Amino acid sequence: MEELLRLENLSVEYKVQDGYLSAVKDVNLTVNKGEVLAIVGESGCGKSTIAHAIMRLLPLHNERITGGIVFEGQDLTKLSEKEIVGIRGHKIGMIFQNPLDSLNPVFKVGRQVEEAILLDGKTKEIAAKETEQLFADVKMPDPEKQMERYPYELSGGMRQRVMIAMMLSRYPDLLIADEPTTALDVTIEAQIMDILTKLKNERNTAVLLITHNFGIVAETADRIAVMYAGQLVEQGSVYEIFANPSHPYTERLMRALPRQSKKQGRLETIDGSVPRLTEILPGCRFANRCPYAKDICKTQDPPLVDQGGTHSYSCHFRKEDR
Ligand code: ATP
Ligand code: SF4
Repeated sequence: MEELLRLENLSVEYKVQDGYLSAVKDVNLTVNKGEVLAIVGESGCGKSTIAHAIMRLLPLHNERITGGIVFEGQDLTKLSEKEIVGIRGHKIGMIFQNPLDSLNPVFKVGRQVEEAILLDGKTKEIAAKETEQLFADVKMPDPEKQMERYPYELSGGMRQRVMIAMMLSRYPDLLIADEPTTALDVTIEAQIMDILTKLKNERNTAVLLITHNFGIVAETADRIAVMYAGQLVEQGSVYEIFANPSHPYTERLMRALPRQSKKQGRLETIDGSVPRLTEILPGCRFANRCPYAKDICKTQDPPLVDQGGTHSYSCHFRKEDR
């Protein structure tokens, strides 16, 4: 598989009054061309920080980034603002949880997609035709009619389709989807995930899917990266992770899945919560919730355990030795 994006020892710290807080620590991750990589984890584990760091869109601009974000061989952390604008929205597109934040309320949605196409120097007629086709591609019922609507006249699912159509008009090599279905009901969620899968298959677009919902990645993703409190704790193919979750955190996340718990007759919950950035201690960040934690876990960063294939996890102890 051909590599598209590589995060190399990526760390993101936020500057606050008393110093820096570590939101993402030493993350190494690759997204290959034409694959869906899902980053999964509980709220606050640093998923959105990674997405925004790639796009250089961290809202408060109080971040300090170290390590590399290498996209098509170019380290994005070294580019000027002007150079990153050339990549953002063109080679890398992004859709967010709330499309209303990204759509302009005073323009019809068709026009907003057309404007994006006009940037390529195409005529208005071609832009209108392409927009109609894109709306059909994202399964908008009656595309011509929907193009004449304003964002507020559309449902959440329809607005998300407009955002995806707008991103597709740029033919990005990578689409970052940050919790794209969190605000939608399950039927619409399934339809949106279906669109993203088709996109990958038909256009060979890579998708970096960010979600707190382990359930939705099974049918959409090729590979999974599990984050905990800013650290990447496990990664592998969907099969490897679902068949053999090996980090204690992933094991528990999987056991908490409703589908699995039905089999076992009870729903397992994970005690405790992700530590706040101000509470992070040295060593393994999962130590205060981990049933296998030993003294070493609280003092030293866990090493990477190679589980074979594309599967690896960070722990002081191999799964079979715990
Ligand atoms: P969610 O699923 O809730 O969006 P997440 O996994 O995407 O969570 P992030 O939004 O990346 O997590 O946040 C990671 C941590 O960084 C959180 O503890 C958050 O409070 C903190 N954080 C985010 N932005 C800033 C900022 N600008 N300054 C300080 N801390 C921040
Ligand atoms: Fe648990 Fe220690 Fe492994 Fe962390 S390093 S997951 S605390 S056993």
